[in-house]
Amino acid sequence: MANVRDLFSKKLGFGLMRMPIGADNKVDEKQVCDMVDHFLSEGFVYFDTAYVYHSGESERVIKRCLVDRYDRSKFYLATKLPSFIIEKEEDMDRIFNEQLSKCGVDYFDLYLVHALNAKEYEKMNGFKAFEYVSELKKAGKVKFMGFSFHDKAEVLEKILTEHPEVDFIQLQINYYDWEKPDVEARLCYETAVKHGKPVIVMEPIKGGSLANPLEEANKLIKEEFGNTPSALALSFVASLDNVMMVLSGMSSIEQMKENTALMKDFKPLGEKEIALTKKIVEIIDSVPTIPCTSCKYCIDGCPMKIRINAFFSLYNKDLKFGNGKFDKAGYERIAKDEFGKAGQCVGCGACENVCPQHITIRDNLKKIAECYE
Ligand code: SF4
Ligand code: SF4
Repeated sequence: MANVRDLFSKKLGFGLMRMPIGADNKVDEKQVCDMVDHFLSEGFVYFDTAYVYHSGESERVIKRCLVDRYDRSKFYLATKLPSFIIEKEEDMDRIFNEQLSKCGVDYFDLYLVHALNAKEYEKMNGFKAFEYVSELKKAGKVKFMGFSFHDKAEVLEKILTEHPEVDFIQLQINYYDWEKPDVEARLCYETAVKHGKPVIVMEPIKGGSLANPLEEANKLIKEEFGNTPSALALSFVASLDNVMMVLSGMSSIEQMKENTALMKDFKPLGEKEIALTKKIVEIIDSVPTIPCTSCKYCIDGCPMKIRINAFFSLYNKDLKFGNGKFDKAGYERIAKDEFGKAGQCVGCGACENVCPQHITIRDNLKKIAECYE
């Protein structure tokens, strides 16, 4: 097949990074089998795993739940070469062969160099990763080659200029980050269009952040869209012409039923719904947050080793997307080991003396301690 776009008539892919977890803290394989059955029975065919998902278990689970139970010609399977693990050129072949064996296949339909940014690209380019995957293609072990990407549009431009042989790319796109300068989702998408590369979208719901927006946003979505916030977020990315696939990391059969119902006979959003996504972004951005730029000037002088910018970033995210909930587990991860909690601030003021944004750090840490501790 000449073009990867021709593989897919429906734009929903099953992302295998957040599979349901059972009471024993392991992947609930019975439910994954049910999800696989439902997904295929509704006419969807694309499964996306990776070497590192579920601490390496994702590839084994999909062997048991999909590959061992269905004819190989009935589905398309993608996995990824973990650039962040590769330390030398020989690692690539060792890991690829391990992946074939873990998944129980003799080829992958799509194979991606995983999570490229400027730094990882330089490293993987030095290891000739694209040449390596091109050889796998020639040998029939990979049908289509791509990469997933987490950086700015100018880095993407460089990679696509230097490697026009890639068949597709995987980008983080959602309606909230579409125009955001720190993500450049629209610019990255337009770079892909310019180079004629079809796009697979990952994190269309912004890691779940857009699934349960603030009450005002929720109400507006119900009134003007008549479906759920997740459906609006999925629909936004699926409506982009050059998007060939939207991944959803579904964690339950219920989520899968909702998504497959939406995407089975998908109708792209009209102008009214696109305008609605802009209104939702405005509502989210109207929430007052701490204007921390994460410069970290405050960190070195703190006698309690409080990771001030990390707390502010978490708090800002929860104010915008938490809908009244605070991510206490995320808070504990920031405050672990030798790092202090917000409530351990002794009020010395050293941080405020150096903060270029003149943030009242002590007062804000008090509020954070109340919300998370
Ligand atoms: S005021 Fe609190 S957060 Fe700031 S440097 Fe002192 S102990 Fe650290
Ligand atoms: S110095 Fe101010 S702006 Fe910089 S990380 Fe600390 S709180 Fe944020």
